[in-house]
Amino acid sequence: MNTNDYPRLQCARCGYSESFTRPLERCPQCDGDWLDVLYDYPRVARIWQRELPRRPQTMWRYRELLPLRDDAHRLSMGEGGTPLLRAVNLGMMLSCSHLYIKDERQGPTGSFKDRQAALAISVMKELGITEAVLASTGNVAISYAAYSALAGIKIWAFLTSLVPAEKMREVAIYGAKVIKVTGTYDQTKQVAADFAKRRGLYLDRGVRSIAARESMKTVAFEIAEQLAAHLGPGPTPWRAPDWYIQAVSGGLGPVGVWKGFEELMRMGLIDRMPRLACIQAEGCAPMVHSFEKGLEKAEPILNPRTRIITVATGDPGPAYTFLVRVIREHGGAFEMVSDEEAFRAIHVLAKLEGISMEPAAGVAFAGLFKLLSKGVIRRDEVVVVNCSGHTFPVEKHLLGEDWVQTVEAPARAPAPEEGLLASLELLGRNVRRVAILEDDPGARRLLRRILQARGPYHILEAENGREGLELIRRERPDLILLDLMMPELDGFGVLEVLQADEELYNIPVIVVTAKELTPDERVRLNGHIQALLQKGAFTDEELLREISGATESL
Ligand SMILES: *Cc1c(COP(=O)(O)O)cnc(C)c1O
Ligand SMILES: [Zn+2]
Repeated sequence: MNTNDYPRLQCARCGYSESFTRPLERCPQCDGDWLDVLYDYPRVARIWQRELPRRPQTMWRYRELLPLRDDAHRLSMGEGGTPLLRAVNLGMMLSCSHLYIKDERQGPTGSFKDRQAALAISVMKELGITEAVLASTGNVAISYAAYSALAGIKIWAFLTSLVPAEKMREVAIYGAKVIKVTGTYDQTKQVAADFAKRRGLYLDRGVRSIAARESMKTVAFEIAEQLAAHLGPGPTPWRAPDWYIQAVSGGLGPVGVWKGFEELMRMGLIDRMPRLACIQAEGCAPMVHSFEKGLEKAEPILNPRTRIITVATGDPGPAYTFLVRVIREHGGAFEMVSDEEAFRAIHVLAKLEGISMEPAAGVAFAGLFKLLSKGVIRRDEVVVVNCSGHTFPVEKHLLGEDWVQTVEAPARAPAPEEGLLASLELLGRNVRRVAILEDDPGARRLLRRILQARGPYHILEAENGREGLELIRRERPDLILLDLMMPELDGFGVLEVLQADEELYNIPVIVVTAKELTPDERVRLNGHIQALLQKGAFTDEELLREISGATESL
């Protein structure tokens, strides 16, 4: 086949293939509605090797693998090229050293739908379409409305009435027609399809749209290219993570991301595929339930019961069929979390990493916590979580009515819980000055932040046992947080000195350690310390709750 035969269209059902001139909706041979675009991968690999270093950081740097024929139709507002952030504090808390956040909040309208809109609307422009209809749970409508404003295309956006009013207003401000449908998202899709048919208008086809799926590949391209920069050289020029985690509704994201990694394999840029973790909201988790039942086709959820409307697709259709094959063959996970778990994850990420996200993105992080605690994801694996959307526009229910807390005197004593904050609680209110003896600066910072979130502690720090003892002698803190493995003098040594000193032996000590203690070591600690906190156990639900609970009640 010569180079001019690429890119090609290929039917996923019957294998029919033809040269790509336009994105056909149906296969001319079998009427199947899922067609893929195939490219001349060796040729693209050569071009990228030569030219990528000079190209700007937007999704269009991967232009050769995007199905737009003429660059003149390209619409761009700087979409893609979002940072891959190393989650240092969260990683510390969870004992994961390779935890990364793909910060898709940084798209022009604040969600990863900007990739989809940029390509899909460019293709519409190329096809000469001037008016289009779509159904959305919010973010597709916002992003399509913005890009179609740029293209001069009129958009009819059908939104379920459950979409927050702030998001609806955002769609309207770009000049799109907003139609609010009282019903579920799946019903809304039906109403939109009927409307488009009656008016003879172009209808956005969701996961069946070639442009939509192809756009999501750029998330994979960027992750692999950025991971290589983070992790250093490996056997291949770029690196695939062990896991890609995303909150999933219709499933377009993981479907496209998967194809992206497959193409990188074909080009020799990565040497293995990641596993996909698709996280759904408990009240609308058709993929999770269908997978548990061993189904090939998703059983729709007719009455979604989640407040997280962005991910309330009850019938994921062909995306599930695609993903279930991938996950059966390559490993991976379908997992679900409650709305509350997602909200809690949002607070943890905001307070630890300074990242404020919408509830749908919180679903992905809550899924990460769950899969780690189940042992499905190992703590030494390279994990990328898609932070798919920003808190803007602010959704009222995220803060709720009671964002300000009223305190009544006298205060009631809180119920004792496990963990650092609970131990502090037990020590009483007069603990104000805390010495942290810990050689790892990251761990020191995490402890400091947990304490600072809790109240006005005066924090003293030392980075080894010897310095720590000097500090304790000088400052007489109310509490000591002690690491066991430290240079100069280790934690056991520090404890021995404290025990032998009349003036110091009654200062309470909480040992915070990553070390698995031997029975002998436990005996050495027994009776001499207030509490023992395992660093790995920082993933405990309790601690997460404590961090968020503590910071919320400030
Ligand atoms: C659309 C969306 C999702 C779900 O993505 P799919 O891949 O379509 O399932 C998750 N988070 C945000 C913020 C979204 O806008
Ligand atoms: Zn076919």
